[in-house]
Amino acid sequence: MTVPFLDLKAINHTIRQELIDACTNVIDSGWYIGGSELAAFEQEFASYCGSEHCIGVANGLDALTLTLRAWKQLGKLKEGDEVIVPANTYIATILAITENRLKPVLVEPDVQSFNISPANIEAAITANTRAILPVHLYGQLADMPNIMTIAQQHNFLVLEDSAQAHGASIGGKKAGNWGHAAGFSFYPGKNLGALGDAGAVTTNDAELAETIRTLGNYGSHEKYKNIYQGVNSRLDELQAAMLRVKLKHLDEQITQRRTIAKTYIEGIKNPAIQLPKWENNEQHVWHLFVMRCNQRDVLQKFLAEVGVQTLIHYPVPPHQQQAYASWSDQNYQITEMIHNQVLSLPIGPHLSIDDVKQVCKAVQKVIATL
Ligand SMILES: *Cc1c(COP(=O)(O)O)cnc(C)c1O
Repeated sequence: MTVPFLDLKAINHTIRQELIDACTNVIDSGWYIGGSELAAFEQEFASYCGSEHCIGVANGLDALTLTLRAWKQLGKLKEGDEVIVPANTYIATILAITENRLKPVLVEPDVQSFNISPANIEAAITANTRAILPVHLYGQLADMPNIMTIAQQHNFLVLEDSAQAHGASIGGKKAGNWGHAAGFSFYPGKNLGALGDAGAVTTNDAELAETIRTLGNYGSHEKYKNIYQGVNSRLDELQAAMLRVKLKHLDEQITQRRTIAKTYIEGIKNPAIQLPKWENNEQHVWHLFVMRCNQRDVLQKFLAEVGVQTLIHYPVPPHQQQAYASWSDQNYQITEMIHNQVLSLPIGPHLSIDDVKQVCKAVQKVIATL
């Protein structure tokens, strides 16, 4: 019996009729871009996050890129300004910075939480620092209370990369509502996933929201009047309608993810494996269940042989990618160690508790031989 890492077909099958009905409504409405589905989703997602504004865009990368660009347009950032960002992240976070000709300053994470370390942020501050871009990696909210304290002391902008953390919270305050703005991805495999590409920015800053909306609409805030050299980045009606259906099921699916994580943590016991650490239940929405093992490749191979699909998030850190060849002499020891040791077990609403127990058993069996 195989335990698939992810099964979007199975996940979406449980709400198939709701999705079809929502599609049918859009098809029959004759209105496919910038209509009532998008407006309703933006309102519902803002309210879910506790933010005042939500702006739908084409994808998660655009959400981050357009927010930084809007700050440049508003005179709050300029080319060459430094943005502090974790060295261990999906490359999109870094691309949003370099696309805007801002300078990413990579800092090491805390090895237990995998998230950017506030102490390392402080050590990386220079006279050119203007912003912090924390990532809520694998679904766990970064240490936002301390990050916001640092930001307030220095008057830095904070953009949260919330692509993996819809619904994660500390003290009742959710991802997307801590910084000055946040970028979300609704890529199909994310915890809140569309049936195609989609993304959004949340913010409590009305001027920023308006600027992002204008930039994503060819730089136009009024038909045929273009105030910026903008881009086309839109969340269409069909995807907005899919997301409205899926948002209704998000909390219940987060609960399922937490149950699976708890089962892994209770079921996997061996010194060869470092299980993920987290502060409290609400802080983590378990987009990924990532553990560390010195003999990661052996472990992955064995699990594949017994039918457990695993993935590595991520095999190569951004500073070692060809895209950033000029950074190849930089060393980030913790980041590099993490990339060599991490393995992601299957997690998500497509799994039964029996599947999860089977994974635990397989992991326990292999580590006896590691
Ligand atoms: C998925 C992801 C993105 C990019 O989102 P897309 O919708 O694929 O553009 C950005 N940052 C992180 C951390 C992600 O996981």
